[in-house]
Amino acid sequence: MVMGERICNLCMHRCRLNDGQTGRCRARKNADGKVICGNYGKITSLALDPIEKKPLRKFFPGSRILSVGSYGCNLSCPFCQNHEISMKREEEVQSVYISPQALCERALQMVPYGNIGVAFTYNEPMIGYEYVRDTARCCREEGLKTAVVTNGSVFLEETEEIFPLIDAWNIDLKGFTKQYYRKLGGSLEIVKEFICRANEYGHVELTTLIVPGENDKEEEMRAMASWIASVDPEIVLHVTRFFPNWNMQDRGPTSVEQVYHLAETAGRYLENVYTGNC
Ligand code: SF4
Repeated sequence: MVMGERICNLCMHRCRLNDGQTGRCRARKNADGKVICGNYGKITSLALDPIEKKPLRKFFPGSRILSVGSYGCNLSCPFCQNHEISMKREEEVQSVYISPQALCERALQMVPYGNIGVAFTYNEPMIGYEYVRDTARCCREEGLKTAVVTNGSVFLEETEEIFPLIDAWNIDLKGFTKQYYRKLGGSLEIVKEFICRANEYGHVELTTLIVPGENDKEEEMRAMASWIASVDPEIVLHVTRFFPNWNMQDRGPTSVEQVYHLAETAGRYLENVYTGNC
């Protein structure tokens, strides 16, 4: 290892970072010989959203949740709907610092408006898991709920302390082949392990965006749904429709028929399957 270089072991990229260098996720960096969460508390988006928008269908339905995001992501999905923050570096976005305590305080102030707590979403929250952890601790003390919307692409050894603090998860399960995950810069195995661990502690819903020509085969859905059922048949699955976006403009939207067909396929294995964007 070069003098001053540090390795970030949070995710599959295991970035080697020179002093001052930021990793592939654009959020973590080597600062004076220590890998730190560079986007800690740097909030780019804040909204009181309906819980169904996360999407979470079976967790306090009808409620709202204070949703926050920062910048950066450790995957490279060409169709990202939030690329304006997820694919940007700190200097390319506008952010304000909100401490965990201040965010918790805001969430409490919104309780009269139907708020149940805080959701970490929009960009990838787990690359800044320290902020999620510290805010979730405050929320717990105040009796607020927490939810995380994530790609589930970080190692459990590094993030173990998070799981008991989070009430609900929406985890992307982008497909069910190693090749597809490799294309997106991720690892299917890591996501599977993450889903199993989250399910031991909290409420779990999964989202699969069906992209034409990538992950839209019935066989793949059968394998995916049967694996999910083996973990817990009550896990909720959202099967959602792709629309051309950002760097993926070479194909049209998924046919509604195909989304319904794949949802029906998943429904042979799972009790709760919903379609989205149809
Ligand atoms: S979390 Fe970021 S810095 Fe760390 S290994 Fe993953 S991409 Fe690299």
